[in-house]
Amino acid sequence: MSRRPIVEGLFTLDGAGGPRLLISKCRACGALAFPARKRCHACTADDLEAMESPAEGTIYSWTVVRELGGPRPDFQPYVVAQVDLGTGLRVQGVVDASPDAVSIGQRVRMGFVHPFGQDLDSDVVTYCFVPVEGRTP
Ligand SMILES: [Zn+2]
Repeated sequence: MSRRPIVEGLFTLDGAGGPRLLISKCRACGALAFPARKRCHACTADDLEAMESPAEGTIYSWTVVRELGGPRPDFQPYVVAQVDLGTGLRVQGVVDASPDAVSIGQRVRMGFVHPFGQDLDSDVVTYCFVPVEGRTP
């Protein structure tokens, strides 16, 4: 089945080993940003380079989402984490794992998940993080 990103220009679909976030790097100060920007959030320069994020990162912090704006019979709690992708880039996303399998400092790699509310047969996907086996502290 072909995949379609939930938002065009947010991440790649065909990176080796999984998706990559499409980020920007400021040529003046080196600041990274996601989503990619046209002007640097750190120094306001407009000389930015488009690039792809690393494939792996480290969980900085995480929580469990247990409710989404009121009761939904089909809702299942899920983990959301802030992940350091290196060089000062911290990104928030779903972790495709149960809460008892997630910890601060854990290595994760990028993957795909169907956004909440999407039929599992849908081709719409978003990025997520997946624990890297055997590397949990
Ligand atoms: Zn800058």
